[in-house]
This record gives sequence, structure tokens and C-alpha cells, in this order.
Amino acid sequence: MLHVEGLTKAYKTGDTVLPILKGVSLLVEQGEFVAIMGPSGSGKSTFMNMLGCLDRPDSGSYMLDGIEVSSLKDTELAVVRNQKIGFVFQSFNLLARSSSLHNVELPMMYANVSRSERRKRATEALKRVGLAERMDHKPTQLSGGQKQRVAIARALVNKPAILLADEPTGNLDSRSGVEIMAMFQELHAQGVTIILVTHELDIAQHAERIVTFKDGVIIRDEKVTERIFSKPSDEVIVT
Ligand code: ADP
Ligand code: MG
Repeated sequence: MLHVEGLTKAYKTGDTVLPILKGVSLLVEQGEFVAIMGPSGSGKSTFMNMLGCLDRPDSGSYMLDGIEVSSLKDTELAVVRNQKIGFVFQSFNLLARSSSLHNVELPMMYANVSRSERRKRATEALKRVGLAERMDHKPTQLSGGQKQRVAIARALVNKPAILLADEPTGNLDSRSGVEIMAMFQELHAQGVTIILVTHELDIAQHAERIVTFKDGVIIRDEKVTERIFSKPSDEVIVT
């Protein structure tokens, strides 16, 4: 579903060039649920922005659902972003003055979907995340967990090839965080391919695979097992 190879990215500030991604390669199969962990500043968000086609790498290849993304023009990239990718942010990024329904309809307006079809699909998406009773509510009338569920519905409404989430529970209390992770697990069970960033091991363990970043490279890539589950941190357990 997704294959990146040798991805690099540096940010230039004035005369200094700061390398952030130093050759990241990752293969994600259809239907996988991957968590990305790593210390703050290790390049997780930079990497997700590349995967989400919100930014371009300096070098490396990126294959998404059969499309070589790195060779696309900006206009084509925007189409891939809208049709192939669902992105969920830590800060929800909902339109404050619009209803849940309108927020979820938005990506379809860019995709030229008819008004009645938009309404139908947005309603279905909101039902899917358990918000049938909150269609006409505005973000200020919703809890954090509900706002994030609206954002998830919006991310899913164009039936993306992949769902990307950068610290989706970062602004939530722990109970809402667990609720959102249960939501991601349910979507995973329905076959949605998910890559999610978190810095909390408790959250990451809801996924089936944990990829760890450090200083712009992947230092670990492992399946979630009972053994990881019982491991308190990065410590090596010697028995
Ligand atoms: P993470 O998400 O793992 O915390 P980021 O990918 O957000 O890390 O950031 C990695 C590094 O890149 C940080 O040191 C950050 O300050 C820097 N960085 C991120 N975005 C930019 C930018 N647009 N311009 C300059 N530096 C940036
Ligand atoms: Mg980040």
C-alpha cells in the first residue's frame, strides 16, 4: 500500500541546513495498523507530512497505492492528497463556525461530489464514528473526543487508501484518548490501513506494529506482542 525508500528532508534557516530525515525507508501493507514513536524532534511529523503529501522530500521515492508520488506535479499531488489520503491532526483542524456535517462534507466539495451525495456520505461517515446525534453541532458544542471523531469522519469520507494520524490523542484526556484508540482499532478491523504517531507506549500498543524514530532515522520496527506490552520503557529485560 505504501512504500518509501531513502526519504530525506532538511530545513534551511538562513545559512544553516538542518537535516531532519536522514534516509527513511518503510513498507506498509494494505490493512496494517502501524504506530510511530520516538522522542520529540526526531522527525515524526516531518515524515507524516511527506506521507500525507503536505510537503515534499528532498530525495527518496514514495509509492502510494500504485502511484509514484515523488514524480507528480503540484496539481497532481493535490489530487492524490484529496483522494488517497485521510489526515487526522492533534489539533483537530475543524472549521469552528461549521456544523459537524459541513466539516465532513468539505473534502468532497474539492472532489466535485454532488450536494445530495455529499450529504449522504457525510451522514454515513458521522454515523460510522458514532456521531449520528451530533450532525448539526459546531465544534464548540462538542467534547475533545467528539471533535476528533468528526475529524476522523472527515478523513474517511473520500474512502482514502490510507489514514494518517499525527498525535491524534495528544490534546485529549486519557479516557477520550482510549476511546479514540478503540475507534482506530475498529477501523483497522474493517480493513482501513492506518499509520499513527504517538509518544505514549500505552497508545502505540493499540497498533499491531511499532516503528521507532530517533534523530531522523528508524531505529526499531517490531510487532506488538505481549512481551512489549509488559515492558515498561526502552529498558532491555535480562532474564
Ligand atoms: P517530531 O514530530 O518527531 O516531534 P518534527 O518532525 O516536528 O519532530 O521536527 C523535527 C525537527 O525539525 C525539529 O527540530 C523541528 O524544530 C524542525 N522543523 C520542523 N518543521 C520545520 C520547519 N518548517 N522549518 C524548520 N525546522 C523545522
Ligand atoms: Mg510531531
